[in-house]
Amino acid sequence: MARKPHVLAIPIPAQGHVAPFMKLALQIAANGVQITFVNSESVHERIMASVSADIEEQSLISLVSIPDALESGGAQRNAVDFTKRAQKGMPGSLKSLIEKINQSNINEQITCVLADTTAVWALEVAKEMGIERIAVQVAGPAVLALSLQIPQLVEAGILDKDGILVKGKSISLSKEIPAWSRSDIPWSSSDPEMQKAIFGLSCTVPKIVGLTNLILSNTFYELDASALKLVPNVLPIGPLHARNYMGTFAGNFWPEDSVCISWLDQQTAGSVIYVAFGSTGKFSLQQVDELALGLELTGHPFLWVVRSNLSNGAVTKFPEGFIERIADRGKIVEWAPQEKVLAHPSVACFVSHCGWNSTLEGLSKGIPFLCWPYFTDQLHNKSYICDVWRIGLGVDPDENGIITRHEISTKIKAVLSSDAIKANALHLKELARKSVNEGGSSYKNFKSFIEQIKGA
Ligand code: UDP
Repeated sequence: MARKPHVLAIPIPAQGHVAPFMKLALQIAANGVQITFVNSESVHERIMASVSADIEEQSLISLVSIPDALESGGAQRNAVDFTKRAQKGMPGSLKSLIEKINQSNINEQITCVLADTTAVWALEVAKEMGIERIAVQVAGPAVLALSLQIPQLVEAGILDKDGILVKGKSISLSKEIPAWSRSDIPWSSSDPEMQKAIFGLSCTVPKIVGLTNLILSNTFYELDASALKLVPNVLPIGPLHARNYMGTFAGNFWPEDSVCISWLDQQTAGSVIYVAFGSTGKFSLQQVDELALGLELTGHPFLWVVRSNLSNGAVTKFPEGFIERIADRGKIVEWAPQEKVLAHPSVACFVSHCGWNSTLEGLSKGIPFLCWPYFTDQLHNKSYICDVWRIGLGVDPDENGIITRHEISTKIKAVLSSDAIKANALHLKELARKSVNEGGSSYKNFKSFIEQIKGA
């Protein structure tokens, strides 16, 4: 008789990884599978602080933590560094946790480990313990396809040992996938240390091929079949959606400000600009000023997520008189229930950093984008949004590297007035909806994944 399935899910400690993992975990639990969700201690504390106190007693999934090498709150600041350190400390902690679970109840032993594609160490622990392993790609499939090619690209002298493009002007994996130029390769950074760290982490990803027989990908087949074809044993099961968990979503590092939904209720349909740059984007004070004034210039109502750490090492300040002038049409919050916001009929446009989660969330709600990427895969996601799917435009900096108020206002107006962008966005929304609805490609893939873990 097959053992009762018990899945252990382990993301890396970054908001853009923990959130989709939580969506996946809740969806697995909704299919009657026991699931234990492992966070690093610092992330666990943040998540528990942002949800209601009774979550532990009533939860569908069990939230546990293992010690991490960072001080409280530090994981968010430096997930790459964390992941490097994790190679040392966390495998032992994970192994002990699994042993403890397995010993505490013979009927609830871990049958499958679901780990982030960048947490190869967790897959190695599972292999050593003889447990079934599945990898989860929370970013797009194209960046995974590129990471899997790293050994060949280095071997061919296209990338040097630090991941810098040294041969040719760009890397092309197929004619349907936008090519990566030197500056938009996901590990490219103006900070050499950061570049080294991200490249080092990306270099571990090809190991997953020998460690797992299945890679789940938060995308859908119709969105990017070309990139999916380049990834062995991949199963697209997205877009994953946030499920309310005791009235809120349990994957947040910040408490959601739900008042913005009642504010949206009071706005005209299709009028609001939603502005959010994920969990790590940082701006200079000058850039914050230009953005504020650009939003004001549009004349549209706007909802702007200003995290406490949005301004580079400083407290965010707004231009003089700005708050008073926009009081009747601007709403500023620290963290929004983003999927609910994007699904709201008042929202017309998403000014986004193009993190993969934000990209999928916006496109599955049919919202046109103004793309403002700054880092990792965001630049390539922007190429998909603007050049492949044609559901948005990008911002261009001036000669000093600043995105001016005029650029922001002009581009927002251009996005809002484009019927072609609107039509493409609605088309993708429909494809996304079909893929997860009964009979759709992601729906079927998800069912087959559940069958696989139930038989594990
Ligand atoms: N998010 C949110 N509220 C906000 C801003 C972001 O819930 O005010 C969520 C968003 O829905 C997404 C995640 O945070 O699921 C950010 O992930 P993404 O990949 O877009 O960006 P990252 O933070 O990894 O750069």
